[in-house]
Amino acid sequence: MANLVVAGGGAAGFLAAITAAEAGLTGVHVLEATAEPLAKVRISGGGRCNVTHACWDPVVLVGHYPRGGRALRGPFSRFAPADAVAWFADHGVELITEADGRMFPSSHSSETVVAALRTAAHRAGVQLHSRCALKGVVAPAAPGELFRLQLRGDGSTDAPGRCRRLLLATGGHPSGRGLAAELGHRVQAPLPSLFTLRLAEPRLQALAGLVQEPVGLELQLVGGARPWRQRGPLLLTHWGCSGPALLRLTAFAARDLAMAQYRGWLTVDWTGGMAEEEVLQLLRQQRSTYGGRSLGAQRPLEGLRRRLWQALLDQAGVAADLTWASLPRAGEQQLLQTLVASRYAVVGRGPFGEEFVTAGGVDLAEVNLATMESRRLPGLHLAGELLDVDGVTGGFNFQHCWTSGWLAGRAVAAALAAGGNSEG
Ligand SMILES: Cc1cc2nc3c(=O)[nH]c(=O)nc-3n(C[C@H](O)[C@H](O)[C@H](O)COP(=O)(O)OP(=O)(O)OC[C@H]3O[C@@H](n4cnc5c(N)ncnc54)[C@H](O)[C@@H]3O)c2cc1C
Repeated sequence: MANLVVAGGGAAGFLAAITAAEAGLTGVHVLEATAEPLAKVRISGGGRCNVTHACWDPVVLVGHYPRGGRALRGPFSRFAPADAVAWFADHGVELITEADGRMFPSSHSSETVVAALRTAAHRAGVQLHSRCALKGVVAPAAPGELFRLQLRGDGSTDAPGRCRRLLLATGGHPSGRGLAAELGHRVQAPLPSLFTLRLAEPRLQALAGLVQEPVGLELQLVGGARPWRQRGPLLLTHWGCSGPALLRLTAFAARDLAMAQYRGWLTVDWTGGMAEEEVLQLLRQQRSTYGGRSLGAQRPLEGLRRRLWQALLDQAGVAADLTWASLPRAGEQQLLQTLVASRYAVVGRGPFGEEFVTAGGVDLAEVNLATMESRRLPGLHLAGELLDVDGVTGGFNFQHCWTSGWLAGRAVAAALAAGGNSEG
């Protein structure tokens, strides 16, 4: 028998188990189906682990979660990025902030984060059972009774078969969603989030690796009621496009994109938000100031990358060796439209960005977000990616894991301390 069994040795599960054990709870066990706990932390952020984001206002922070959003204000006001920074500092991991707000360990290695979590768990007395999967749960029939656990795997022999409280922190794995559903929870169907887009545009594909910043993006999906918009850096790839603005766009539009089978049109404003009239004036200025220069050699916007400008001239059907003075009015109009509203066919989903995150999961309405306890089944807690919460790229997904894990661990320790902390 155990006081707390955590199913899932990932970011959320570890933080919950450590928090409960550091608060004095004994009999805390983590079950991890694979041989390697914290595997996603290890591979995260390109091996550097983007632990959190330097965003200190919970109201601003929730704007980075396409699913979760305002409901997360409460949890983030209890355990915010600043608390995560302090927690890691207390456990020997100093975080540094990059220019765009992403926070990484100063060692630039995710191993530091993995080691800190494992050491903290060990010191606090958390018992880890690798190769031990939770396969089934029999819920307590009455208050005071125990959860009965059905386990599988080499590591199951010394793992507890019963517990007073159970935390599901199984990430995006289908087994956890299945268990939550069996225990009475509504589960939103899983969908990919944070992916790139495939475009039918060989001219742009030839520019793979080029970043244009900022651009305005507008995504209109087949059968979609309203367009989705974002602004920021765009990365061109050999299949289409990626980069922060695009990943944010696909994260927010994830459900509509899936419904449209990833088909639609992406309109790119290469000027990053200039008014059409302003761009027209710029083009006319080129004509009057640099009339003798060729279009290819003289860009109208300083920030527009040279190779991109040449591809846009080609796209507009305007010869690059034409001089500005001899550009016909029709060509000027073509260029104007190409600069402010280039329309590209979206023909599918591209590979994932640095993060792979599942949208969907256990409905937040059925969870008490102060304790992460199920509103359907007392004694059951849920945390991390298993919930219907996902953030955009930048450390927001881990932040939700730290927050929900910490809240669950603290609540379990408090509840069991109130009712007696004994391992029978
Ligand atoms: C390549 C990549 C890079 C990423 N980089 C970042 C980043 O830099 N910053 C960021 O914020 N986010 C990043 N993410 C997202 C982030 O990794 C996830 O949001 C986060 O790991 C989710 O944590 P979790 O604890 O909820 O689930 P997980 O980390 O998935 O952990 C769940 C664990 O439960 C185990 N498990 C599943 N079912 C069972 C079962 N039935 N019994 C026992 N164990 C079970 C799994 O094996 C797994 O170890 C990245 C994701 C990927 C894939």
